[in-house]
Amino acid sequence: MANQAAGTNFHRNLVTRSVRCCIAGGGPAGMMLGFLLARAGVHVLILEKHGDFLRDFRGDTIHPSTLEVMHELGLLPQLLQLPHQEAREIGAQIGDARFTFADFTHLPTRCKFIAFMPQWDFLDFLARQAAHYPGFDLRMRTEAVDLIEEFGRVVGVRAQAPEGPLEIRADLVVAADGRTSSLREKAGLQAQELGAPMDVLWFRLATRPDDPEQTMARFEAGQIFIMIYRGEHWQCGYVIPKGSMEQLQARGLNAFRADIAKHAPFARDRAAELASWDDVKLLTVQVDRLREWYRPGFLCIGDAAHAMSPIGGVGINLAIQDAVATANYISEALRKGTLNVDRLKAVQRRRELPTRVTQRFQVVIQKRVISRVLGRIGELDPPFAVRMLTRFSILQRIPARLIGIGIRPERVTTRATAVSTQPQESADLGSAR
Ligand SMILES: Cc1cc2nc3c(=O)[nH]c(=O)nc-3n(C[C@H](O)[C@H](O)[C@H](O)COP(=O)(O)OP(=O)(O)OC[C@H]3O[C@@H](n4cnc5c(N)ncnc54)[C@H](O)[C@@H]3O)c2cc1C
Repeated sequence: MANQAAGTNFHRNLVTRSVRCCIAGGGPAGMMLGFLLARAGVHVLILEKHGDFLRDFRGDTIHPSTLEVMHELGLLPQLLQLPHQEAREIGAQIGDARFTFADFTHLPTRCKFIAFMPQWDFLDFLARQAAHYPGFDLRMRTEAVDLIEEFGRVVGVRAQAPEGPLEIRADLVVAADGRTSSLREKAGLQAQELGAPMDVLWFRLATRPDDPEQTMARFEAGQIFIMIYRGEHWQCGYVIPKGSMEQLQARGLNAFRADIAKHAPFARDRAAELASWDDVKLLTVQVDRLREWYRPGFLCIGDAAHAMSPIGGVGINLAIQDAVATANYISEALRKGTLNVDRLKAVQRRRELPTRVTQRFQVVIQKRVISRVLGRIGELDPPFAVRMLTRFSILQRIPARLIGIGIRPERVTTRATAVSTQPQESADLGSAR
């Protein structure tokens, strides 16, 4: 539950503001929701604790369904002008056998590919577009630290900004603060842990002109290695059993470099680019889901409501789809000041099925494939399902649909208000760039 303001210093120079909706977290869920609400004429304030959108890792996939949303918003051509790579299929290698796992070219969407774009470019793009609407405000370097509650209802957020403490009063507070959401804890919402057997090591290697360009996942007994082609570099993921980073480090960096060379012989000479373990980031994986996503005056979306496994690279897609559904259900009521808890309940009802089905799929893959591969010694044979994918290429459309579109794709139904010709000065775009 929300605490009293943290310490007496908090009250010094306290600034109080009032908005219709305050969103904690400027990730895919928060930025998309902020944009859609501002576009629908709602006064919205996003708080982002970091000074920019640059992070070691943010997941750089923009799925066909998100590109469809961008088309509905009339923003697709501008978005695709930003540097990106287009993956029309995703491949995998098990032992020596190579196969295409997902073929996006038959999807019933405008863009039949996954766009790989630095997430900070995508978020920055949304921020710039949102800044054209008078109701949009984005505060970078501002951390939501607590909820303000009155008579069992959330009525605002306490935040820490560079200039000092902020108190924001809002009809609705949305927690879009990711898988380590502190606000969902403050709200006392209970999460169900679904478990993840692995963590991921994340690093970059340079590309060369004669490299293959296909995004690849390579499965060997005891090891899974993923390479995503990003133009000037390879984004590499090395999957390890949960909690085994110390053992890996004890084997030494040279042994790790040798593993990389084994998985990607064409990049053998570049393994030396990893000068120390500082070049390798550990990303812990967690999968969970809130039993209730809301309380009066409060709603969780994206990873704050359901932390996603990296399996299938679909978490961003779900976060964006949550944002679209939320805006569809609440923007009119928020604008008129008539929002009630039934609307928040409706958001959970709408988004719970896609979340459950996707997480179920991820957990099954984690148990049946990831755990088995990581625990295996000796040769690895392609499982039956994989042999079928290779034999009947039409089957490659199924994973493509699950990854590219997902379950119950959302359409934007919110109306658009007029844009200002000049971006809002209040939007903290300078620091977002
Ligand atoms: C190893 C790994 C690899 C993954 N790979 C992919 C992939 O390739 N493709 C994919 O689609 N998904 C991937 N995912 C999942 C994906 O990262 C998440 O599902 C997605 O980022 C969720 O978006 P979000 O907006 O809900 O949260 P986040 O992206 O986590 O954004 C939350 C934001 O809130 C901010 N914040 C946090 N606390 C506060 C606070 N108190 N006040 C203010 N701001 C705050 C954070 O700085 C952050 O900007 C991966 C996950 C993992 C763990």
